[in-house]
Amino acid sequence: MRIRNMVSKNKILFFIVPALIVLTCGVNGTVTAQDTGTQAPPDAQPLRAGFARIELTPEVGLEIPGGFQKNFSTGVHDPLWAEAAYFSDGNVSLAIVGVDLIVIPLDVAQEARRQAESRCGIPGGHIMMGASHTHSGGPVDSCWAVERNEDYCNYAATRIADAVVKACETAVEARIRCGLGKEEDVAYNRRFWMKEGVIRTHPGKMNPDIVAPAGPIDPDVAVIAAEDVDGKLLGCIVNFALHGTTLGGSLFSADWPFYLRQTIRGGLGADIGVVFLNGACGDVTQVDNQNPRPGEFGEAWARRVGMSVGSAALNALVKAELSTETKLAVKSEILMLPIRDLGGSDEELVRREAPGIGLGTGDDIYLKEAALVREMKAKSPSVNVEVQAIRIGDAGIVSNAAEYFCRFGLDIKHASPWKLTMVVELANGCCGYVGTPEAFLGGGYEVRTARCSYLDANAGLQIANASIRLLCQLSGE
Ligand SMILES: [Zn+2]
Repeated sequence: MRIRNMVSKNKILFFIVPALIVLTCGVNGTVTAQDTGTQAPPDAQPLRAGFARIELTPEVGLEIPGGFQKNFSTGVHDPLWAEAAYFSDGNVSLAIVGVDLIVIPLDVAQEARRQAESRCGIPGGHIMMGASHTHSGGPVDSCWAVERNEDYCNYAATRIADAVVKACETAVEARIRCGLGKEEDVAYNRRFWMKEGVIRTHPGKMNPDIVAPAGPIDPDVAVIAAEDVDGKLLGCIVNFALHGTTLGGSLFSADWPFYLRQTIRGGLGADIGVVFLNGACGDVTQVDNQNPRPGEFGEAWARRVGMSVGSAALNALVKAELSTETKLAVKSEILMLPIRDLGGSDEELVRREAPGIGLGTGDDIYLKEAALVREMKAKSPSVNVEVQAIRIGDAGIVSNAAEYFCRFGLDIKHASPWKLTMVVELANGCCGYVGTPEAFLGGGYEVRTARCSYLDANAGLQIANASIRLLCQLSGE
């Protein structure tokens, strides 16, 4: 297991000394969190963990969201799942769910939490659910020409709750392991600085005006595994940052995470749980715009991506180290984030935001979207966005509802006090793309106003600050 250099983390911890936590650097550069101030509560029980999955494949014929045009499904490439992990230590119970959807709308997340809480007693706020961001999933989102389907949204909420309840029912005494792998060769930042001094998204392969990528990727393949007291693997949580845009077409599919799960189950057991949580991939794609090779779409490419990330996860899993702690904790904050100023006229908006080339062109479709965002803003000038942090032993998981830029994910991990940190996007709701302030100045698809991009330029920093704050506070729980 490779552990990131922790030197900078001690700087951060200087500021959280009031929390009763001392971090110590081991000889090999690893860090262990030691709770020096609290005794185990008298009712502390051994850690228990359970995994379960429930299918939520829509009826064939329903729309697939994610593109600019309508896309009615014609079949199923692979079934879609809500896959849950449950943990309890007698004091705290929590669940983490990976869901094969493009997003999880706030009302769907709230309903899933309500049902799960009433059926198995896990507090709704202790349930984290992340969308895999598959662009071959069911109709839960309205943007461009695609409309969400209310019946399917209700169905998805119930199926997510079903997965949590079933995971809770299967729980057994467990131990935790954490591991970190790397995969550097399947993900690429899709935004580029161009010769004219602006940023463009997918400007075209080998575009001679490309100067350099405008953002990073995150190669981390982070895993948290639970095994029973005999060492048998029960399941794992896997975190990697990459858009689910590989397969394309009109068949329902989990996209590349289908092959990720297949690879892990092929190596370690068909019956184990694999909960996939997407990372901060708002600007990360499987297409290498600086490589002339064709064909970075379709089944073969989805397999290449999913098996590569799955292999890295397998490698991290088999070498994962036993967690020195089994404590669980959950903390969250609701941020009130303002909707951006859309200026006076449509002409002004087009002048300011239209990229001219690459993804995000087409003024008519965007002005319709901008009008809908203006309506949103007239009803409420800000939206509530949840940032949630969960501690599982030596690992911290922090989530937000944005399509979050990769830079922020790296910054949060850098500042995190945890031995292993997962940053999860599109969790417990959806607030559209959230880019860096620099991204707003440079332009491009992700920052052009639409129902999938409407928060102001400071939203990303506020989410990052809250994420780091919660990760630090968790260590005092
Ligand atoms: Zn996206």
